[in-house]
Amino acid sequence: MSRVYNFSAGPAVLPEEVLKEAAEEMLDYKGSGMSVMEMSHRSKVYDTIIKEAEADLRELMNIPDNYKVLFLQGGASQQFAMIPMNLMKNRKAAYIVTGQWAKKAYQEAKIYGDAVEAASSADGTFSYIPDCSDLAIPEDADYVYICENNTIYGTKFKTLPNTKGHTLVADVSSCFLSEPVDVSKYGVIYGGVQKNIGPAGVVIVIIREDLITEDTLPGTPTMLKYKIHADAQSLYNTPPAYGIYICGKVFKWIKKMGGLSAMKEHNEKKAAILYDFLDESKLFKGTVRKEDRSLMNVPFVTGSEELDAKFVKEAKEAGFENLKGHRSVGGMRASIYNAMPIEGVEKLVAFMREFEKNNG
Ligand SMILES: *Cc1c(COP(=O)(O)O)cnc(C)c1O
Repeated sequence: MSRVYNFSAGPAVLPEEVLKEAAEEMLDYKGSGMSVMEMSHRSKVYDTIIKEAEADLRELMNIPDNYKVLFLQGGASQQFAMIPMNLMKNRKAAYIVTGQWAKKAYQEAKIYGDAVEAASSADGTFSYIPDCSDLAIPEDADYVYICENNTIYGTKFKTLPNTKGHTLVADVSSCFLSEPVDVSKYGVIYGGVQKNIGPAGVVIVIIREDLITEDTLPGTPTMLKYKIHADAQSLYNTPPAYGIYICGKVFKWIKKMGGLSAMKEHNEKKAAILYDFLDESKLFKGTVRKEDRSLMNVPFVTGSEELDAKFVKEAKEAGFENLKGHRSVGGMRASIYNAMPIEGVEKLVAFMREFEKNNG
């Protein structure tokens, strides 16, 4: 068996320890005589799995008691509709458009009401986070929406926008559990888990209880009502049971690693190795304004499409996978999520140095 260094933006690298444990438990989960994949989501043994996963997540993020944790399906993209359907009481919301995912959410919200673009960084190909300290947010907006870490462009909100008292909704798909977070500043935090937590198929929604109401937009499908899932503790219908089990293992792994402040330290160390190199390199350049750089997704270019392609090809041959940038941006992107070991980044930078020497 040989494992590559996987720099994919998602689905992405998971802790090897977690994968090994899951493999060991594949045929017989803790004496149950069956795989977690095969067991009833209403069984006692599964109930323990999902409850422990929630408890560990609450502990890691220090989630206040007046927030619900929901394990849902449909990916982050389904939340683009679910959020307005559940939260747009006045049919108005402000969106900060900092990339493709934020734009998709904004466009989806327009189906349901008056979605206002309060700020955008489209003018700079989303290479920065706009100043959000004094935005024109409509008085009657139901919420302010951000994509906190922009997976494709490699930017991250280092300070949250001034929502002027409005509820903040954040897509944290690609920075989930990468650093400590003050949950009480948000109304809704959500993310698909396949970037930094687990296998595709689970989306976690952390939502303040007062935002969970019967009063959804007319025509909202039952399955898209937060209240239905909150009342049933994520067991209204069959949840993505196996995926939640793996997420639970990753939560325990993060706890063992020292929790979110240790994760932040680990992630800052890794990101610095790569950014410091990009800042000194004559060949490779980062594409993002320095103060807005993501700890998780690091896009870079050589300035030549041919050299970019050559780099991606040679890197792959050397065991560094999925470094090609998003199809909308080109160049390269190294996603260095929680489970990417520091050696992975060190070896990548050594490889980049060597490539620069040979192609500079
Ligand atoms: C990947 C991603 C999405 C889309 O996730 P799906 O689960 O595929 O719907 C949305 N937002 C962000 C920030 C992402 O990185």
